[in-house]
Amino acid sequence: MKLTFWGTRGSIAAPGRETIVYGGNTCCLEIDLESGSKIIVDAGTGIRPLGDHLIDQGDPVNVHLLMTHVHWDHIQGFPFFDPAFKPTTNITVCGFPAGMKGLRAIFDNNLGDGFFPIQFDELSAEITHLKTLEKERSLFIDNCRIEAIPLNHPQGAFGYRFEEGHRHLVFITDNELTETARAGCRPEDYVRFCKDADILIHDAQFTEDEIDRHRGWGHSDCASALNLGIAAGVRRLILFHHNPSRTDTEIEDIEARCSEWARKAKASLTVEAAREGSELIL
Ligand SMILES: [Zn+2]
Ligand SMILES: [Zn+2]
Repeated sequence: MKLTFWGTRGSIAAPGRETIVYGGNTCCLEIDLESGSKIIVDAGTGIRPLGDHLIDQGDPVNVHLLMTHVHWDHIQGFPFFDPAFKPTTNITVCGFPAGMKGLRAIFDNNLGDGFFPIQFDELSAEITHLKTLEKERSLFIDNCRIEAIPLNHPQGAFGYRFEEGHRHLVFITDNELTETARAGCRPEDYVRFCKDADILIHDAQFTEDEIDRHRGWGHSDCASALNLGIAAGVRRLILFHHNPSRTDTEIEDIEARCSEWARKAKASLTVEAAREGSELIL
């Protein structure tokens, strides 16, 4: 399994001199399975350069677009995903129940003239909606088992566990780890879901000092993400959904602090922050 981060930022794209290292595009992850199948998780602004990359590769584009939810930062790039405009492209939308509806709505939102120049049905690609994961919470793509878990996030979201052979990856963005959750699951449910994962990618939009002012926003702080990683026995924790106002230097500080906490807790996991453009093999 190979992962590529095309967008690591939360809430809104944040290009500029201070976000070059960790990136400014919003949520988009490419997962290449051993079987050769490709999964794209979310359609934040990072899906635009991913689309250009796929067209450069030349083959017909055939992807599963796995949606975590339909907040703006997770769908905004889709109208600029150039493969969607090619008749040879096949896109299977799956995951969060409102995923397909959200992708349509950014074209056909009835806001009147001038919002976006084309309608969803004018896209040339074959776009189908697969509901297996939303009904049964699990789905096989070739030999990869994908399992979904509801998240603590306003209007809901799904996190995912991918198991292909002996490799286990968990991707949970837009999730507030808290005892007083109104939706989603309890902290121990997330520990079970992440158990022994090789890689856990988790929301860490806030620092430990900021989180109390942002309770109920549906995001976690880096210390809670680290505690989850340690409790679940994961090998590698990757902090994700960076706050749009966070500079590269500030993210480096968060990485260093979390690594120090892990060392003091005698935990064996490594901690890093997701970097746009980085590739991981597992
Ligand atoms: Zn988000
Ligand atoms: Zn969200």
